[in-house]
Formats: sequence, structure tokens, C-alpha cells
Amino acid sequence: MIIVIKPDSKPEEVERLSQALEERGFHIHRSQGRDHLILGLIGDTKSIEESTIRSQHIVEKVIRVNEPYKKANRAFHPADSVYNIGGKQVGGDSLTVIAGPCSVESEDQILSIAEDVKKSGAKMLRGGAFKPRTSPYSFQGMGTNGLELLLHAKKLTGLPIVTEIMDLSQLPMFSEVDVIQVGARNSQNFTLLKELGRTKKPILLKRGMAMSLKELLMSAEYVMAGGNDNVILCERGIRTFETATRNTLDLSAIPVLKNKTHLPVIVDPTHATGLKWCVEAMSKAAVAAGADGLMIEVHNKPEEALCDGEQAITPEEFDGIMKKIARYAELEGKSL
Ligand code: PEP
Ligand code: MN
Repeated sequence: MIIVIKPDSKPEEVERLSQALEERGFHIHRSQGRDHLILGLIGDTKSIEESTIRSQHIVEKVIRVNEPYKKANRAFHPADSVYNIGGKQVGGDSLTVIAGPCSVESEDQILSIAEDVKKSGAKMLRGGAFKPRTSPYSFQGMGTNGLELLLHAKKLTGLPIVTEIMDLSQLPMFSEVDVIQVGARNSQNFTLLKELGRTKKPILLKRGMAMSLKELLMSAEYVMAGGNDNVILCERGIRTFETATRNTLDLSAIPVLKNKTHLPVIVDPTHATGLKWCVEAMSKAAVAAGADGLMIEVHNKPEEALCDGEQAITPEEFDGIMKKIARYAELEGKSL
């Protein structure tokens, strides 16, 4: 349930109402907009009589929220969520491009890619240290050494880093990571999501391969329910009957999510298609559809990559895409 408070209401009267509701066992989520204060009631609000709340003179209106996600719901927080991550804006009028290799492979590789993507305007560096591979015989990532190399690249370039956590036991190693990625395969690992909710770290939450948008929002809710509001959603393609691409990029997820939630929505055109030559077209489409950012795999030697080389673009190709999407971003009122 959402209670919209009339502008110019006295803070002590708002406090009295909030306290009365808290005493009845509800948790209150406050959101101060430009004109209105919104109180979001979390709990089983069936027992509350709307007319009783509405009759209070400080209350402008009462809205029942039927969706099971509350904190992620735009009704609770009408303005877009905007974060400052290591000095880079995510959400709002910013288009955040995160770029880097699928996995960290060596110092030369990550430093060279980091310098190049930074020059082209990427705001953050990605790279997996712990890799969720389909085969146990494939390269599993460099682990802690990979994390150290990412932190070294961050020190040299100033780019905040985004890297995937696979398991709760790895959390202590992520203290200096700027954005913790939860991959498609872990996006309904509720134990992990709950624990990430207890941190204050920005979480890049990818959509699972067979996950509805409502389920994605419920996973975001798991993190937010623990007190961590810093969630970024990522559409990365879903499994369909189509085999021409690795996954099917659900472009309509962008306007639907932007309608339902205030959280920033970014798109990963690389894993969505699995084809390097599709990355440009899908990047342009995602920005035109209103995405708040992109996550793109870039490798300095794609043919030698230990993971996902067939879908990685080169730094030169990335530079070309950045120049093109700048124009699409401008049309959407966003800047790179
Ligand atoms: C990745 O970003 O490296 C990755 C493994 O992606 P996803 O979880 O979307 O498959
Ligand atoms: Mn990959």
C-alpha cells in the first residue's frame, strides 16, 4: 500500500502516522519526491481499511500495490534511481557503458583492454575472475589472482570494476569490487541475494535464462528487502526456440521494466546474441529503446580468448560502436 502525503504536511504529523503503522507491524519505506512524500507500507496490508487512512487530513491518496515487489516498484519510488559508483553516474540522464573481456586472463590482457575501452568512453571495466562455465573442463577463471588484476587495472585507469560472484563464500574477497555481478545462472539463488542485500555494494543483477520480468523484479526485491537499494537490472537475452543467436534479446523488457521499476536497466548485447557482428545493431536498439547502459565484451585478441572469444569485439570495433551510440543516446536525452 502506498500513502501519498500532502505537500506542506507537518513532519510531526507524518511521524505520528508512521509510528501508528509501525506499531501495527508494518515496515515503512519513505520516498521523498519533488513535491510529495510517499510512504510505502510493506507487510500484509489486507487488514488496513483504506478509508481510515484516507480520512487523515495529511493524506492525499492511498493506492494499493498489487505487485509482490514493493521496494523495486516504481509506485513506491516514482523517480528513477540514480547511483554514483566510483564517481560514475548510473541511471537518470547517463548512459553507462561497461566493457571488458569475458574473463581476466593476464595482466597484459586486462590492462591493455582497460586502457582502450577507457579511451573510447567506457565508464566501467568488466571481467570475470570466477566464471560460470557450462563445462567443468573449460577455463574456470583466474579466481583471486583475477580479482587482483582487476583492482590493479582500476588503480591505473580509475575505472570502477564489475565482476561476477558465484558463491557466498567469495563475498569477503569482493570488498574492493565496485559492482558485484550476479549472473544469469545465479539470479534466483535466494541465499546469495539475501546476503548481498546485507551489503551496501551496487549489484548488477542479470536476468536468468528462463526468468520472467516479474521474477527478475522479485530477485531484485530480495536484495532490496535486506536494505541494499543499489540494484541495476541487466537484460542479457532469454532462451527461446531460436537457435540462430545464443539467446534472444528481449528488447521489450526495457520499456516494461522502466515502467514497473525505478531501477536502472542495462542491456548485454554480447551474451544476448553470442555473435560479435550483432553487437552493434543490438547496442543501438537497446539505447533507442531507453536502456540506461550497456555491458559489452571486448577482447584485444578475440581469436585467442579463453572464454567467449566468438562474441567479443575488438577495441577498435568497440570504439566505432561508442561513436555511433553517442548519437542514439543524445536522441534519448542521455550522455555517454
Ligand atoms: C558474463 O557476463 O560473463 C556472464 C557469464 O553472463 P551471463 O550470466 O549473462 O551468462
Ligand atoms: Mn562471457
